[in-house]
Amino acid sequence: MRVIHSIRSFHTWRRTQDSLDGRIGFVPTMGALHAGHLSLIHRARKQCRTIVVSVFVNPLQFGPAEDLGRYPRSFSDDRRLCQQAGVDLLFAPRPDEFYSSDFQTTVTVNRLTQRWEGKDRPTHFQGVTTVVTKLFCAVRPHLAYFGQKDYQQYLVVNQLIRDLNLDIRLMRCPTIRESDGLAVSSRNRYLPANQRRQAGLLSKALRQGVDAIKSGERNVRTIQGRMHKTLGNDPDVHVEYLAICHADNLEPLTKVQGRVVLLGAVRLGNIRLIDNRLVHCPR
Ligand code: AMP
Repeated sequence: MRVIHSIRSFHTWRRTQDSLDGRIGFVPTMGALHAGHLSLIHRARKQCRTIVVSVFVNPLQFGPAEDLGRYPRSFSDDRRLCQQAGVDLLFAPRPDEFYSSDFQTTVTVNRLTQRWEGKDRPTHFQGVTTVVTKLFCAVRPHLAYFGQKDYQQYLVVNQLIRDLNLDIRLMRCPTIRESDGLAVSSRNRYLPANQRRQAGLLSKALRQGVDAIKSGERNVRTIQGRMHKTLGNDPDVHVEYLAICHADNLEPLTKVQGRVVLLGAVRLGNIRLIDNRLVHCPR
């Protein structure tokens, strides 16, 4: 496995790939790799000749009061895991080269980024779409692998690819979970033991929502009420949102119909967790 930090060296490597047959698969990450990231890499390994993984903690997607400084960094473990997973190239650009001191170009997806994760984090998605565009320009992948875990992010990247007419196939990969349903996340390692049990409640609430829909309930208020009950019993769990939305545009629904997504975000102390479930409800 090659490891490249400099953008110029990356471009040189990328040119060597132009004359080769087969597809380049790309898995962008912020590092602190775990089973969720590895599932994306394994999927890419099955479908592509060459796998590029990026590890870059993107400062642009963190708000001023968020955890950029505290975000877990474990590059030597990441390198070992990538090597074991059969990654061909690990790209870990240096932040000061990636964003030079006079950096002034950003990429924005408008409507889809206004709600949910974008509501209280006004610069978050612009940071994501800017870094993803820059990485797509460098890597020029045929396929790009993203997790359903960050469903809104997946939709935003999908919109970006369509709006910029990029020739990239976006692959949505299922959320990898712990045995109690908690979605695996780099930030889970910061959960103190006493909050670890509470963290499982978010996926439990979403699962109950799905079960209610599957057993015929269509009224969003009723379903939301049941989900809140699961979470609301615990005073340490602060619910930011629990929503039932159209799965393509994330507009909130009053009645469950068609392809819907149940979205949730909760705060436990200073740890923020998000999760979602997709359900198809034939009309
Ligand atoms: P991150 O390093 O958190 O920016 O995540 C990099 C990619 O891994 C994103 O596409 C995430 O959606 C995906 N990912 C993170 N956690 C999981 C998980 N538990 N299951 C599947 N994919 C995940």
